[in-house]
Amino acid sequence: PERLLELDDVHVHFSMREGLVKAVNGVSYHVDRGEVLGIVGESGSGKSVTARAIMRLLAKNAIQASGHIRFRPEQGKEVEISSLPRDGRKMRELRGGHIGMIFQEPMTALSPVHSIGTQIMRTVMLHKRVGKEAARARAIELLEKVQLPKPSEMVDRYPHQLSGGMRQRAMIALALSCDPALLIADEPTTALDVTTEAQILELLKSLQEEMGMAIVFITHNFGVVADIADRVAVMYLGRIVETGSVDDIFYQPKHPYTRALLQSIPRLGQAPVHRLKTIPGMVPDPFNAPRGCSFHPRCAYSVAGRCDVYAPDVKRFPDDQSARCHLAGELPEEVVL
Ligand code: SF4
Ligand code: MG
Repeated sequence: PERLLELDDVHVHFSMREGLVKAVNGVSYHVDRGEVLGIVGESGSGKSVTARAIMRLLAKNAIQASGHIRFRPEQGKEVEISSLPRDGRKMRELRGGHIGMIFQEPMTALSPVHSIGTQIMRTVMLHKRVGKEAARARAIELLEKVQLPKPSEMVDRYPHQLSGGMRQRAMIALALSCDPALLIADEPTTALDVTTEAQILELLKSLQEEMGMAIVFITHNFGVVADIADRVAVMYLGRIVETGSVDDIFYQPKHPYTRALLQSIPRLGQAPVHRLKTIPGMVPDPFNAPRGCSFHPRCAYSVAGRCDVYAPDVKRFPDDQSARCHLAGELPEEVVL
């Protein structure tokens, strides 16, 4: 498999009046061409910030303090994204052209004052250097691909004339308009009702199979990841604490945090009372990350004198599974919360 995207020890800091927040604290992951990587974690774990670093769309008070982000838009061509000027030509070419992005809120990506068609046409004309007519045909074709009804009428509609689910589809059409090698999906189904969420996931899966793009799928919902991802990375407080294939993560989780998250998935057929167990303890204060293992204040397995003093290294297991925990590989079989 060919590497498409590689993050190597990425650190992102925000300077705030209250101090420095280390939102992303040494994240490394990779995505192969055509692969779907699910990134799971609670809000504040640094999932979105990492994604924005890939797009060079970080807030003004953020700095990528160190690390590398390498992207291969085409075979044999490598771009070091972290060294590109944020608003330069190269980055604008990548953004929208080779890397598409979809969000929880479609209006983050869609303009309210232009028709859906105009927005897709602009993107296509910018990146593919085609004329107006070809771009309009492409827009209609895309609206059909995302299964919007009557694409040739839909193309002239404005975002406010569409329902939430339809707007989501329009945003997907826009993100995929230039046939990107990578789609970054940041909680694209989180705001939707369960039925619409299932439909959008189905759509993304079939588009992925048809168009073959890789996806970085960010979510706080493990159930969604099981549905769409090939591999999973679990994030906690700005770090990846476990990675592995979907099967290994689900059936043989090696990190206590992954276990705890898995416990909180609503399971089919389970009585509603038992449906949502929350993980004990709050996400810690980002200004004062705990000493030692950052998960230790919430960890049921924490060993005093070890976990609260020494930060664990990454331990590696067969099939590319790894976990950042002193006890990874030695956790008792039964699940403790
Ligand atoms: Fe828990 Fe210790 Fe592992 Fe951290 S290193 S996850 S505190 S067992
Ligand atoms: Mg987020």
